[in-house]
Amino acid sequence: MTGWDLIDQELARWSEVGRTPALWWRDDDAAEATPELERLLGLQRATQMPLALAIVPANATTALADRLAQAPGVDLLQHGYAHTNHALAPDKKSELGPHRPAMLVLGDLATGWMALERLFGDRALPVLVPPWNRIAPALVPALPEIGYRGLSTFGARRRVHPVAGLQQVNTHVDLIDWRSRSFVGEEAAFVALHAALAASRTGTGEPVGILSHHLAMDEGAWDFLNSFWEKIAAMPGLKAMPAHDLFALREPRV
Ligand SMILES: [Zn+2]
Repeated sequence: MTGWDLIDQELARWSEVGRTPALWWRDDDAAEATPELERLLGLQRATQMPLALAIVPANATTALADRLAQAPGVDLLQHGYAHTNHALAPDKKSELGPHRPAMLVLGDLATGWMALERLFGDRALPVLVPPWNRIAPALVPALPEIGYRGLSTFGARRRVHPVAGLQQVNTHVDLIDWRSRSFVGEEAAFVALHAALAASRTGTGEPVGILSHHLAMDEGAWDFLNSFWEKIAAMPGLKAMPAHDLFALREPRV
């Protein structure tokens, strides 16, 4: 069994217990108003699916702010500070890892948040998306202290609230195979989606997140993303939700 059949079978299990899984969409690495961003926003507009865009604050331009002012339905999240790797090989790439003093890393994040507020005002949600989906565990307790209410990485979350005042909602289906920097393929995407839905149903209760990268996707990934959201838009058994609802951050914030 493959593809949508696999998903339909899993959705039947949800429906047997009277539940509807939540799905969400995060796209990372926005900094400039590029043709690829235009394509992403066009896809969002055409499918009307809620999109959360993770923005790299240090690189974000006023052109990006101007463009996103015309896309009011898109939620904006903070993608680290400058998307700079501070890890040394063989450690995996990380901007918010244990490689620098915590004060320095948290200072970067606060500077990044100010840049987002300056560019996007109330549109920026206090949700941190660590670059490469990695953050030193020791930093997490400090996040609510400096104003974050949400955290989003990749893979099954361990807890809904890693610390008091901070909610975690992750992504689970990465459309890119980063070794080849090409689309993972339909089958792998569906297998990951199916596994995340089943894990959510039987344990984590977590909304299932689709992760896209508008600057790195090949035609295969774009095609999949487009047909996927088109299909989801017409499916009753899944509920696509905006980040501001998932993180219980309704706009305008009060
Ligand atoms: Zn990134």
